[in-house]
Amino acid sequence: GPAISIRNLSKTYAGGKQALNDVSFDVPAGQIFGLLGPNGAGKSTLINILAGLVNKTSGHASIWGHDIDADPRNAKRAIGIVPQEVVFDPFFTPAEVLENQAGFYGVPKAARRTLELLAAVHLSDKANAYSRTLSGGMKRRLLIAKALVHNPPVIVLDEPTAGVDVELRRQLWELVSQLNSEGVTVVLTTHYLEEAEELCDRIAIINHGRVIADKPTRELVNMA
Ligand code: ADP
Ligand code: ADP
Repeated sequence: GPAISIRNLSKTYAGGKQALNDVSFDVPAGQIFGLLGPNGAGKSTLINILAGLVNKTSGHASIWGHDIDADPRNAKRAIGIVPQEVVFDPFFTPAEVLENQAGFYGVPKAARRTLELLAAVHLSDKANAYSRTLSGGMKRRLLIAKALVHNPPVIVLDEPTAGVDVELRRQLWELVSQLNSEGVTVVLTTHYLEEAEELCDRIAIINHGRVIADKPTRELVNMA
């Protein structure tokens, strides 16, 4: 079955704002799935529900067939989340950030892949630098490594390239493709059509909380 299945999902925030309205889609295992939509469309809300951070109002979200609300640990184990905001303790080093994260996830010391992950995101030479000295791009890459410490089969990235320059965007695209080619299922949100087109096998377009299209990228692009 699909890695992620969303059925008739709705979310109304306290205060009455309806962020998601009867959203349904499947993320096929092994694919890169893009949620494309403008600011305010509901993308972050959807991701936060997948991450177990926000409660849905109605409908279902499941990961590998396990309902996310039934036990948030299903999402915690299976999904690595790359949030939009990059926040690190300025005096922690990348190696420490990854070790701490592995600790939070209960990854045994012998199973930790700190140096391997730093190499994968091209940060080996910054392993022991204070994170306050990293460039914006380095911090974004560290955030991706952080999401991978518990070896999740699915990684979810919330606008991974918002506000970054063209060169870094290309770098991040390569990194995401590489992870996918190693077998990780990827869900990402973006408001760049170009990014979705370049990276994604399948794209769902979301607007005002509704999915208005959901197709293989090639079909979608031929329609436009
Ligand atoms: P996107 O990620 O596509 O920009 P969001 O999911 O952040 O969209 O937001 C969808 C809608 O829900 C927006 O109108 C936003 O203002 C609103 N919203 C988001 N978070 C909250 C919240 N915590 N409380 C109330 N409204 C919210
Ligand atoms: P569980 O009982 O679900 O295994 P843990 O006791 O291992 O949860 O951890 C409690 C929660 O705190 C986890 O969801 C963990 O991810 C979270 N947590 C707290 N601080 C951080 C942090 N700085 N970075 C990532 N996760 C954190």
